[in-house]
Amino acid sequence: LSERLGSVFDRLTKQGALTPDDVRAALREVRVALLEADVSLPVARDFIKAVEEKATGQAVTKSVTPGQQVVKIVHDALVDVLKGEGEPEALKIDNPPSALLMVGLQGSGKTTTTAKLAKRLKDRNGKRVLMASLDTNRPAAMEQLQILGLQIGVDTLPIVKGETALQIAKRAKQQATLGGYDVYMLDTAGRLHIDEVLMDEVQAVRDAVAPRETLLVVDGLTGQDAVNVATEFDGKVGITGVVLTRMDGDGRGGAALSMRAVTGKPIRFVGLGEKMDALETFEAERVAGRILGMGDIVALVEKAQETLELEQAERMAKRFAKGLFNMNDLKGQLDQMLKMGGMQGLMGMMPGMGKMQKAAEAAGFDDRMLRRQIALINSMTKKERANPDLMQASRKRRVAAGAGLDVAELNKLLKMHRQMADMMKKMGKGGAMKQALKQMM
Ligand code: GDP
Ligand code: MG
Repeated sequence: LSERLGSVFDRLTKQGALTPDDVRAALREVRVALLEADVSLPVARDFIKAVEEKATGQAVTKSVTPGQQVVKIVHDALVDVLKGEGEPEALKIDNPPSALLMVGLQGSGKTTTTAKLAKRLKDRNGKRVLMASLDTNRPAAMEQLQILGLQIGVDTLPIVKGETALQIAKRAKQQATLGGYDVYMLDTAGRLHIDEVLMDEVQAVRDAVAPRETLLVVDGLTGQDAVNVATEFDGKVGITGVVLTRMDGDGRGGAALSMRAVTGKPIRFVGLGEKMDALETFEAERVAGRILGMGDIVALVEKAQETLELEQAERMAKRFAKGLFNMNDLKGQLDQMLKMGGMQGLMGMMPGMGKMQKAAEAAGFDDRMLRRQIALINSMTKKERANPDLMQASRKRRVAAGAGLDVAELNKLLKMHRQMADMMKKMGKGGAMKQALKQMM
């Protein structure tokens, strides 16, 4: 984060780096927290090890202890793992009729989740949904889904006594096709434990309907067993995502981390109660906070980082107001622009910068150009950065060559720098900088 405002201020923000001892001490506590949250042992171990490597040597934010800093790093790493690559995509149900297969152990919340999700798809996505229970084991299972269907206004496949799960699945597919449904959801039977018969049955159903999505429903209170359940179902049936139920209870939801780490499959939804609207999309931040149970510390470090950023912005603005704007300052700005993917941040925060922003955009100020300019500044000496006007033609050639670029490019950079420095000076005189500062505070 400290890089956000440019390397110029690195020396001001680093009060020290995390030593291996700092990290190890803090991670001992984190380890306890993860195990208490029911993260599976091997997953917790691997996770801690990865964080240990990553955290050691990282800078400690001012006014924060090394231990607190580690907790924040752990939190961020947890969010990364839970989130996986990019945001979770929407359910693939765009090919009507799309089959959505619900699998999981008995009592995990499959039937309830099937109905909740059907309601959501109907209400939020405007889908026509058909639900079918394939649970031929428990006598009342089919009626349970039927009743829920009536309650939420979603059709269920008429019950025919004596059919096998596979027969019901085929009939559901047929009905969904004939009836013009967008989605048909298959609520399978569970077992108390994983067994061959169950897996064979689910495999046969899968082969018959080729589901667009196969969601594994897991009780969020499941502890060490979550990994086995997820591995088994993913290996035998192939899942596309996970729904974590009973997250309204006391459980800290360590199963989420375990399953995400082991299967790599996204957690799509969390169940937050028995009611039909108690289903929410999975939010990595929230679940990470819950698993770690150290929200106060994370908030504290975030606050400290924010404060520091403000201080840095203030310091920078003061420098600018004095007419001080050298190549280091420019590099800081360029770094930041690159980070933020455009002319935002500090520039955007200052009134009067809008015009410059537009001009820069018009001049084709893209990431590639930013990188070239940063490379040019990097190949200048310290003195040249502090006082770029002193550069002779021969030095210019060398600096440009050092960055693998033409002198023309360097001249453009120097011109831009001069214009920006002039503008800073004017703003400083006119009091606009003070205005900007006030606005930022
Ligand atoms: P299935 O055997 O997998 O089909 O499980 P059910 O859907 O029948 O659910 C078993 C029990 O768990 C029912 O009493 C549900 O009301 C309850 N249940 C399901 N999801 C949740 C949830 O997210 N929170 C809570 N508190 N209870 C749930
Ligand atoms: Mg059921």
